[in-house]
Amino acid sequence: MADEVKKKVVKKEKKAPSPKDLALDVASQQMIQRSWDMEVETIFDRAQTMKPCNIGAQGTCCKNCAQGPCRLPLPKGGIEGEDTRKGLCGATAHTIAARNFARMVAAGAAAHSDHGRGVAETFLAAARKETDDYHIKDTKKLLEIAPDFGVETTVEGKDGEILDRDIDEIAVEVGEIALGQWGQQTGDVCTVKRAPQPRYELWKKLGVVPRGIDREIVEIMHRTHIGVDQHYENIVEQCTRAAIGDGWGGSMIATDLQDVLFGCPYPLKSSANLGVMKEDHVNIVIHGHEPLLSEMIVQAAELPEMVELAKEKGARGIQLSGICCTANELLMRHGVPLCGDFLQQELAIVTGAVDAMVVDVQCIMENIANVAQCFHTKIITTNPRARIASGDTTHIEFDEHTAFEDAKKIVRTGIENFPNREKEVMIPDQKEDLIAGFSYEAVNYHLGGTFRASYTPLNDNIINGRIRGIGGVVG
Ligand code: SF4
Repeated sequence: MADEVKKKVVKKEKKAPSPKDLALDVASQQMIQRSWDMEVETIFDRAQTMKPCNIGAQGTCCKNCAQGPCRLPLPKGGIEGEDTRKGLCGATAHTIAARNFARMVAAGAAAHSDHGRGVAETFLAAARKETDDYHIKDTKKLLEIAPDFGVETTVEGKDGEILDRDIDEIAVEVGEIALGQWGQQTGDVCTVKRAPQPRYELWKKLGVVPRGIDREIVEIMHRTHIGVDQHYENIVEQCTRAAIGDGWGGSMIATDLQDVLFGCPYPLKSSANLGVMKEDHVNIVIHGHEPLLSEMIVQAAELPEMVELAKEKGARGIQLSGICCTANELLMRHGVPLCGDFLQQELAIVTGAVDAMVVDVQCIMENIANVAQCFHTKIITTNPRARIASGDTTHIEFDEHTAFEDAKKIVRTGIENFPNREKEVMIPDQKEDLIAGFSYEAVNYHLGGTFRASYTPLNDNIINGRIRGIGGVVG
């Protein structure tokens, strides 16, 4: 192990925590202990030494212009009476906190909606038949969503009869209108009208219906610049508009188009936790956010030539597993198991079993590149938006026009790395069975069947109190 990548680990002082203090999950506990034994630093070590900044925690540090940073700490003993804190420009603590929060909203909305933009671009390429690797798969869903984009699915014939429109034409129109929602300047983002009528009317009354997905994000950045919006309520109102633009626009359009491209998820069995990896297989972990590349990786890993290559290199096969959102996409459509969550990404590498960790965008810790240097793991970045300076990563850029070839290159890189394992492999036993794939369509079907698909039984039982509540886990 290169000394320069060995990091300080938590000193085992009297009060030093044990792995059980840091994680409830037994597999994680085992890997935290292993990382300590091998002197490999992970987030569990950094969390022990990180001291949060008090001013930052209150959101009252401003660096929105070059006169700052202006720091507005709470006065000793707290605020009695009026809060008189001000930045150099006179911005109050309320203004600064609202502006900082708004920029977080802008960043989150930009990230999730940019994912949707990428999906819309690929969808349009598939609809126009500019790529051989993606196809319009779920035409039923396409016909269901088309009216929400203002696209007709039927046409009147010469004799007044109603004829079905060509499915490719519908797909192209849906793709163009969907992609147009990002740059739209006036009107409403079209999918927002799916909201229940009273909710939509309330949004209209409050002036928070988004005009265009990008426009609302840009407007947050403008308003929070020095000397623009200096009313915290007005700033937060724009946060709502941008957030609806993402949730009911960018992210919702991403879901729609992914379902049409890759098929609607339906319930299937799989498993989760570090124990899904297999010592005698090539382990390729797919990590990040978008399904565009990972869908191709699933297909590439199933090719007989890849399985044969893995056997030539001494493995019994190829085990794919996932981390974070990309994992969920593959889990709910293909049953690919989850090997971990956000906090387990470094721990997965600590098993010594990961031959390649393939990352796209979002939730990827920069330090995986350092942890990988302590093992044989190859970190493969694939997106031009998301490169890693730390460590020694490999970049294989993914392009939707050459998607399958890119995916094959990535899988081959993982397979060829299998014989390079140097450290003893230690995969925890823990894995749990699960059922995933409860899409809107699947729940609708399971509650009402083919002919009466409906949420009514669920709604009725919530209203009559037999169902006491529903939990949503949202990242
Ligand atoms: S915008 Fe105002 S509070 Fe913020 S850094 Fe500039 S002068 Fe300071």
